[in-house]
Amino acid sequence: MKKKILIVGGGTAGTMTANNLAKKLMYEIDKDEVEITMISNSKYHYYRPGAMYVAFHKASGHEFVREQRTLLMPEVKFLVDEAIEIDTNSNYVKGKSGTKYSYDFVILATGCEVAVDRIPGLKEGGNWFYSYDGAKKLAEKFAELKKGRVLVTVNFPKTPDVPHQCGIAPIETTIMLHDYLKEQGIREDIEIIYTYPKVAQAVTDGLFLQGPTSKVLPSIFDGIGVKYKTSFTLNKVDPEKKIAYSEEGEEIEFDILMSTPPFIATKFIRESGLSKAVDDEGWLPTDKKTLKVKGYENIYTLGDTVDLPVSKAGGTIHNQTDVVADNIASEIRYGYPTESYDGKVIAIAQMGLSCGMPLWYDYKEDVQPTPCSKLGSFVRKGFNMGIYWAAARGMV
Ligand SMILES: Cc1cc2nc3c(=O)[nH]c(=O)nc-3n(C[C@H](O)[C@H](O)[C@H](O)COP(=O)(O)OP(=O)(O)OC[C@H]3O[C@@H](n4cnc5c(N)ncnc54)[C@H](O)[C@@H]3O)c2cc1C
Repeated sequence: MKKKILIVGGGTAGTMTANNLAKKLMYEIDKDEVEITMISNSKYHYYRPGAMYVAFHKASGHEFVREQRTLLMPEVKFLVDEAIEIDTNSNYVKGKSGTKYSYDFVILATGCEVAVDRIPGLKEGGNWFYSYDGAKKLAEKFAELKKGRVLVTVNFPKTPDVPHQCGIAPIETTIMLHDYLKEQGIREDIEIIYTYPKVAQAVTDGLFLQGPTSKVLPSIFDGIGVKYKTSFTLNKVDPEKKIAYSEEGEEIEFDILMSTPPFIATKFIRESGLSKAVDDEGWLPTDKKTLKVKGYENIYTLGDTVDLPVSKAGGTIHNQTDVVADNIASEIRYGYPTESYDGKVIAIAQMGLSCGMPLWYDYKEDVQPTPCSKLGSFVRKGFNMGIYWAAARGMV
């Protein structure tokens, strides 16, 4: 009987995996033994890291959007519909349209979303670059800023050992901000204060979520005149007085608050009944090796939705997608999964407007910081402007 594979979510994770599956199972698809369907709640696909460049007037945003259909192999059926319910007994996902999409295997890849409402006053008093609209608002604020203070804050999920989206982004944007203000000729008139919460996954009282990078950051920040403060866990913002308050009892005034806000899984996942994450954050309990949702033999997940201790980043998905695609292909062919994820993350961090730093780590080894370079920046820009679309199509 024909096997049905359903992918929910047409972002980085869903798209790479759909294309990988279509290639691996081409023989079975040709014989009409396998069918791959993707549903996504948007006709469009956003390259999310592009928002950082919008915040610093280096892009308008349109460069980073494609129609989702154009990124998928013809063998993948694509429908715009919003998943609202999953029935794990009858094996179907219900869409907002009323359609029930039945499956033999389902891949849940709906990413995560910002939850600014979870910190009183943050929505009114803060700014963030984790969405295109948010980045545009931040860019407008930067355009008006002539002197004063930019305060950087970072929030982590309350679920233990789960990171916020793109762990390196607060550092990337702090250094990009320094470069941008220098370009504008106003760096000396603006103070930048980078803060980090008390608990950041395995690190306490640090400046980054992994020890080796946390240790080198003071010398990097000292070199560019960025002030820094550990153990500032943002818990309230007064938008009128422009003051940020921490759980530790401190307060800092700001002119612009550039925040990494709280993140949660999407509504569909939070309401699916599959997650028991604290504070209704909704992260899916994920087997760290097989990438199956724990307790379910035919539900896989990857990307920003998982509760794993690895970065919620495209550089993570690039290493997870083959595991999911290989495991489903093996289950269909042999009856058991064959691949195992080792926690690998590979990316190039944008350390300022024209410096790129390759980084890689896995479940066992932390990132070892290396010097950033113009060559690194060249590769990163190439990724932003074109290589990403090839990667999403499963070509790189
Ligand atoms: C500012 C910024 C900078 C970043 N920088 C980097 C970087 O330098 N390097 C790096 O590797 N990563 C970076 N990332 C992270 C990277 O972009 C994400 O990790 C990646 O996009 C996550 O992919 P995903 O498929 O899990 O989620 P997404 O890409 O968010 O895709 C989720 C998809 O699900 C769809 N969806 C949501 N809900 C439903 C529903 N109910 N029904 C159907 N469809 C639904 C959405 O429309 C979307 O298509 C950055 C992210 C941001 C925001």
